[in-house]
Amino acid sequence: MLNFCSLYSGSSGNSLFVETDNTKLLIDAGVSSKKIEKALNDIEVDPGSLDGILVTHEHSDHVQGLGTFSKKFDLPVFVNQETLDAMPKQRDKIADKNIKKFKVAEKFSIGDLDINPFSIPHDAANPCGFTILNENKKISIATDIGHMTNDILKNLEESLFVMLESNYDPEVLKCSSYPFSLKSRIAGPSRTFVKSNRWKNDFFFIKIRFKKCNAWSFK
Ligand SMILES: [Zn+2]
Repeated sequence: MLNFCSLYSGSSGNSLFVETDNTKLLIDAGVSSKKIEKALNDIEVDPGSLDGILVTHEHSDHVQGLGTFSKKFDLPVFVNQETLDAMPKQRDKIADKNIKKFKVAEKFSIGDLDINPFSIPHDAANPCGFTILNENKKISIATDIGHMTNDILKNLEESLFVMLESNYDPEVLKCSSYPFSLKSRIAGPSRTFVKSNRWKNDFFFIKIRFKKCNAWSFK
């Protein structure tokens, strides 16, 4: 069994959940600890039963509830050094014993999941995506990617499904309600935004949504 659930997704906060028979992981904690707890309860997962939280990067829509959630449920946080250094407020709340550092491009395991962190282009300290492997099942998470690279594509190969956040529609962007500064950021070299929704089990699917405009495109 390898299940995936998007608990929260969007510029207001991101948190994903992956489970096998033996291991439960959260990827990012970008909403309040209370909201994450509620979302997990809604899918009948005890937050205290999690094996840890993987962090993609330090932006608040990915780590807002991280420190509090880790502290409340005594959960390990898997993070690279640069990302950790870039979020001192969250760092302060996490017990030293719960800081588990990984290096991008070096594989590691959590329970029966093999994790491969890979670099993504995004305006953060050391942002990464993850491939997650259980037996011969592989899923991939690549959120906030500025643009697609050959390296990312290589990492996504043979995934049963991919959660991808990338790309944008310039026309949709133009008519969106985002302020000019944000529009420039989206359209710039580290462009971002576009969302996947929720998938489960055994298929490869990329759903692209420009959230604030309620416009969807499939590529
Ligand atoms: Zn970001």
